[in-house]
Amino acid sequence: MKTLLTLICCAAITQGAHAQIDSSQLLKDVETLSTDKFEGRQTGSKGNRLAQFYLLDRFKKAGIKPISGTYEQPFYFTRGDVRTMGTNLYGYIPGKTDSVIVISAHYDHIGVNGAGNSADSIFNGADDNASGVAAILGMAAWFAKHPPRHTLIFAAFDAEEMGLQGAKAFLERPPVPLTKIVANINLDMVSRNDKKELYACGTSHYPQLKPVIQAAAAKSKIKLLTGHDRTEDGSQNWTNQSDQGMFHKKNIPFIYFGVEDHPDYHKASDEFSRIHPSFFYQAACTVLEVVRLMDK
Ligand SMILES: [Zn+2]
Repeated sequence: MKTLLTLICCAAITQGAHAQIDSSQLLKDVETLSTDKFEGRQTGSKGNRLAQFYLLDRFKKAGIKPISGTYEQPFYFTRGDVRTMGTNLYGYIPGKTDSVIVISAHYDHIGVNGAGNSADSIFNGADDNASGVAAILGMAAWFAKHPPRHTLIFAAFDAEEMGLQGAKAFLERPPVPLTKIVANINLDMVSRNDKKELYACGTSHYPQLKPVIQAAAAKSKIKLLTGHDRTEDGSQNWTNQSDQGMFHKKNIPFIYFGVEDHPDYHKASDEFSRIHPSFFYQAACTVLEVVRLMDK
């Protein structure tokens, strides 16, 4: 009997060590955020606002604390003649120091196709970027139970699709002094790749982060690659192609995690049914491992 109990105990501990992120909650968050109810989450739309309500509830349940009593950072921006309001959502997990790592993912997407006459006119944005948001929520829940050394700010940015406006607003009015932010970890499209490849972009700008990526890659069950961050990569240089670009402009070291474009990129077919659950789970765990190593 004792042997059996010991075995069960060991099995539970072993499973616990690997099951770092709650996989069912991870998938549920992507599925929910990419349902038609949220109408493609375009900044300023009703669907985007409904997504905010869902995320506010999830922030609380993940154990993320509000900053100065709020999770919301409203901001305005102008494109052409149109003035639009966006809303970043953020909060923190306290660390032992006031050095901050900002872990971010944009929750907005591109809404509904104006023509509206195709069978499916809603751009659900499951991979882009319900996946990144779900992953940072999963990471937050883990760190709420395993307190970090750095203070971790979790940010779901709005209006990325309109020119990285949410990240820009965050850096113009940061909730902590910019000098306290030591790194940005940004996730944008992390849930599918036929070759099981996830890119960690940014090490050519910030080579000091390369050892951490290499150590996480050695443990990862997917292929964690570096690249897409040099001038000679041309249009495949992703340095400024998602919110990390705004951190880079302030000389804040970043790692951006994402996959190469797939046929459903910025199409109505970027649906929950097209994501690769196993790859996605491993991608989220791999990014969690990177943050854990950076936090040491
Ligand atoms: Zn995106």
